[in-house]
Formats: sequence, structure tokens, C-alpha cells
Amino acid sequence: MDKYEALRVYYGHDAFRPGQEALIDGLLAGRDVLGIMPTGGGKSLCYQIPAILSDRPALVVSPLISLMKDQVMALKSQGVAAAYLNSSLDLRQQDLVLERWERGAYRILYVAPERLETPGFLGTMTRRPPGLVAVDEAHCISQWGQDFRPSYLQIVDFLDRLPARPPVGAFTATATQAVREDILRILSLRDPVRVVTGFDRPNLYFDVRHPRDRKAAVLDLVKERAGRSGIVYCATRAGVEEVCEILQNHGIAATRYHAGLTDEERRENQDAFQYDRATVMVATNAFGMGIDKSNVSYVLHLNMPKSLEAYYQEAGRAGRDGAPADCILLYGPKDVRTALYFIENGEENDLLSPEDRAEVVRQDKKRLNAMVDYCKTTRCFRGQILDYFGQDHGASCGNCGNCLGDFVRTDVTIPAQMVLSCVKRVRDKLGYPVGMNLLLDVLRGGRGQRVLALKLNEVSTYGLLAREKKETVRTLMDHLVQEGYLRVDPDHGGVSLTPAASEVLFRGKSVVLALRDVPKPKSAIPRVVLPAGEAPAEGFYDGLFQRLKEVRTRLAQRAGVPAYVVFSNATLADMAVKLPTDREEFLAVNGVGEQKADRYGKEFLAAILDFLGEETI
Ligand code: ADP
Ligand code: MG
Repeated sequence: MDKYEALRVYYGHDAFRPGQEALIDGLLAGRDVLGIMPTGGGKSLCYQIPAILSDRPALVVSPLISLMKDQVMALKSQGVAAAYLNSSLDLRQQDLVLERWERGAYRILYVAPERLETPGFLGTMTRRPPGLVAVDEAHCISQWGQDFRPSYLQIVDFLDRLPARPPVGAFTATATQAVREDILRILSLRDPVRVVTGFDRPNLYFDVRHPRDRKAAVLDLVKERAGRSGIVYCATRAGVEEVCEILQNHGIAATRYHAGLTDEERRENQDAFQYDRATVMVATNAFGMGIDKSNVSYVLHLNMPKSLEAYYQEAGRAGRDGAPADCILLYGPKDVRTALYFIENGEENDLLSPEDRAEVVRQDKKRLNAMVDYCKTTRCFRGQILDYFGQDHGASCGNCGNCLGDFVRTDVTIPAQMVLSCVKRVRDKLGYPVGMNLLLDVLRGGRGQRVLALKLNEVSTYGLLAREKKETVRTLMDHLVQEGYLRVDPDHGGVSLTPAASEVLFRGKSVVLALRDVPKPKSAIPRVVLPAGEAPAEGFYDGLFQRLKEVRTRLAQRAGVPAYVVFSNATLADMAVKLPTDREEFLAVNGVGEQKADRYGKEFLAAILDFLGEETI
């Protein structure tokens, strides 16, 4: 068997994704590899296929019990002998796993890093060494990453203790240079094959909305996506509690997850979500790395995260199966203040020296600014994200709120001149720049304490925009920042003019503000392209898709696995388009391998034939 056959037979896919082949080839040739691919990019397969093809089994280090469980379940359902070893097993079960490993019963064993240095485990691994060691979520080894796990450092000693060092593969979705270098250095990867694939996730639709009532907006967005699996991230536990209750009160099967719950309840709720008993998970960012659920079809953010890295990681949990999915962030200016507060009062920084602390705060603010820019941009959202990760892209992606939205363009040159002039006057009067809010107050003729104390009601531009709504002026000021006419100091927030501002003030350059119209609701699943010339009756496709989902639920319940372990949404969508009527055609559906064709083929084929029969009558 070769890698192409393995891909087809065990996974049911007919082509490798970018980067996968190079990593597989590297490991098969006995080389170390470093694979950096976005979440959902398909990293697992890169060490699993070498494990399937080589004569010695693979050991996979993975940080979380839930991740291991999930992967092992998926492998078993594909017909690959796999197991895991962690604290969720009792001692007897642990012994049994080691015994079976020695007998050569597994192709792949997942193991928690804490396990590596225990005597029993080391003994077994010395007697029957792994043919390769894969380090999944390898960024956990770096102190610079947000998921540092000291136990990951044990991997190094473990490798040293093996009779011979096997090829080592490290895999992560974290893109930053510091983390990448840490992985290479700490694991001492030997001349590894490096693959860094693009970070774009074309199936994800990105949008930012600015609703007045964010909780009501969440409810609407969830209702529009009824029956689909989604995650709602909130900044605080209180937010989680409230949103979860609102959803439940509207009859939505929502559950919750945050650090304030007992371990047991967290586990139960995560399970309910995993097995689709709960369709919506409302959570803080504590609900994180352990989620490998591939059919999450939207991720909503009630609040703005603290950086684009964090946002992309959380939003990236949508659409892992490649099916269209929505990532929508609800923005409110209050989020910026909250985030600043946390940056300036972060407890974890207490141990640092004052200089280091100042540096951390400076970096955090820089990241926060990039996040805020994302929320306010009228350019392509995807482009904004890819810029941040240093990746090239086209001008418009055609699959984000800004690329698809309708903009109303207004000439705002005169109010823009008023704002710029006000910034200048205030600065001239005081001799130092002031922040957005105070300027806003001056422009709108406010009689706030600071306005009066600083006598800013005496500047000539005081109250020039008194008739405009606060939000309108705020939007205009943000626009002037984005267009590079105003600059906000990243440390103290003082606003000043840039050299470009004089173009507008004195040389008649016009300023045009493009504002998004009410966003079009956009459905995530499944926008399929039907073969040319075939136009099935309205509702045909959805009807069949629903029917296939029911079959999947039934089979999943029978097997005691989550629905997506049976087949992903993308596979069902492909099935509904290809309409297979025998085993061979069934195998041609993307995501159907031999094991699954044997196990589930009959029932899906029967459902499709039934449906076709009904439709033609
Ligand atoms: P990662 O670990 O990089 O986040 P996974 O390995 O969990 O991603 O894979 C994400 C999804 O992509 C899975 O549902 C997997 O079946 C699918 N996938 C992986 N490789 C391919 C491929 N070559 N063709 C189609 N789907 C794939
Ligand atoms: Mg993974």
C-alpha cells in the first residue's frame, strides 16, 4: 500500500491538501519534520499515514485527554488500530494498553506528556520502541505561546532514553516566529523537513457587526442557524451564564463552559456538545484547544478577543471539515476599555521585572490595536487577517461581510475638516494631545468636567458637530485614523494629526466614508455547486441533506460516537450532490473510505434511493 491508497482506503479522500505529502514523505524517509498549518488544515493525517504504512507503530504526544479520545475514536471508525494512554484509564486498563503495544496490536498510540517518564512506560518503549514520535500541538512546548505546558519539556528526555532516536514530527497551528524557533530548538529537530502552509481558510466567512444589543443579536444569529452546531464565545463567565440562559429560554439546546464550573459539569457539557445533544456551546476562552469537533458551522464572539491570534484560533474552530462556516464578531467600543484594563492589570505579569512588564504591556497593546483595526475596517476582513500573519492575498476575498456587503458612500470632507481642525486647536491650546473621548465631547459641545476644567469650551471648534449623534462622530474619527489622517498614540491614547491631514485641511482633498448597509444574512451550510445542466427542484438538495443527517444521527447513536465521527457535513453534502446508488459510487464520495463504506454504506444508499424514488413520483 502507498500513501495515496492509504488516503483513499482509510480516509476516503482523493487528494492531499497542501503540505501533507511533503510531511508524510519526510517521516517515511526517516527524517524529522515540522508542520505548521492552520487549524483544520489536516495535520493529523501527516503522522497517521506514515504510522499506517510503516512496520513500526507511532507514538503521538497530545496535550489533552479529550483530543486523544477524539482522534482515537475517529481512527477506529476508519479501521485503524489505535489507543490512548492517559489518566482517564484505570491502572488495569493502562497495563492492558502497554501489554497490547508490546504485542504489536496498535498502529498508533496517543499518550499524555506526563506519562512519558513513568518507569512502566519507559520499559515498554525500550522493549518495543516506536517507529516515529509525533508531537501534536507542539507550541505547548514554548513559553511564548499561550498554551505552555511544562510537561511537554519531558519529551526531550524521553527521546534521549529510547534505544535509538526515531524520526520526530512536530505539528502546530501557531504561526509566530518565536514559538516556531522554540519548537525547533527545544525538541532539537535534526534538519527537519519544514512545511508552513498558507493560513487562509477559504470556507470561513468572516464578519464584524456593531449591533446596539449584542445579546439580542446573538439570539438572532443562532436562530438563523437553527439545528447547526455553533460556539458562542463570551469574555466573562457572567456573560456565558446570561447568554446561555437567553438561548435556553428560547428553546435552543445550548450548554455552557467556563472555569467556574466543576470538572464534572465541564466534561458533561463538552460531551453534550460533542455528541450534538447540545447544538450551541456558550463558553469563555477556557473552552479551547480540546475541541476537535469538525462540524462546528459557526463561531460567534459576543466580545472582542484581545488579539487577532486569539480571535483566529477561536474562530478557526468553525468549519474544520471544509464545509462553509461563519465567523461573526460582535463589536462594542466598551470591549476596548475592558481589554485595556486586563492588559494593564494582568496578574500573570506580577512576577516580571518592571522593565519586562512594561514591554509585555506594550506588546499586548500593539496586538489589541490590530484587533480593534480589524473590527473597524471596511476592507476585506480576510485580507486584514492574512496581512497580520504576513501572508499575501488578493484585494477582495468574496467571502466576508465587507466583500459581500453593500456600502453607502458619503462625502464627509467638511465634517472631517472640522474634526481635524478641532484636534489641532485643542492641541495648540493645551500643548499636548488628548484622547478620543475628550475630543468627541468637545466636538459635540459637551459640558463634561474635563471640558470645562481645561476650558476647551473656549476653542473655536467647540460644538461644531453638536447636532450629530455620538456614534456618527466616533465613526468619522475612527475612519480618519484608519485612513491615516489621525494617529492614536499606542501608549497613552493621545490623538494627533499626521502630515497627511493637511491635504484635507488645506488642499481640498475629499474624504469619503463608506458605511456598510444592514448586513445581509448569510447562510453557512451547504452552498454547493451543482453539476452544470442539472437543476433539481427547489428544496431537493436540502431535503436530502436533512434525510442523510437523520441517517447519520441514527448510526452515530448506535455506535455510541459523535455524529461527525460517522461522516462530516462536507461528506454528507458531497453525497447529496453525487447521489451514489452503489458501493463503488459511494466510495467516490469525499470522506468515504473502505471501512466506512462497509459499515454505513447500506443505510445511506437506501436513504438516497428512497429519496430519489419519492422525488420522481
Ligand atoms: P488539524 O489537526 O490540522 O487542525 P485535522 O487533522 O483535525 O486538522 O483535520 C481537519 C479535517 O480535515 C478533518 O475532518 C480531516 O478529515 C480533513 N482532511 C484532512 N486531510 C484531508 C484531505 N487530504 N482531503 C480532505 N479532507 C481532509
Ligand atoms: Mg490537530
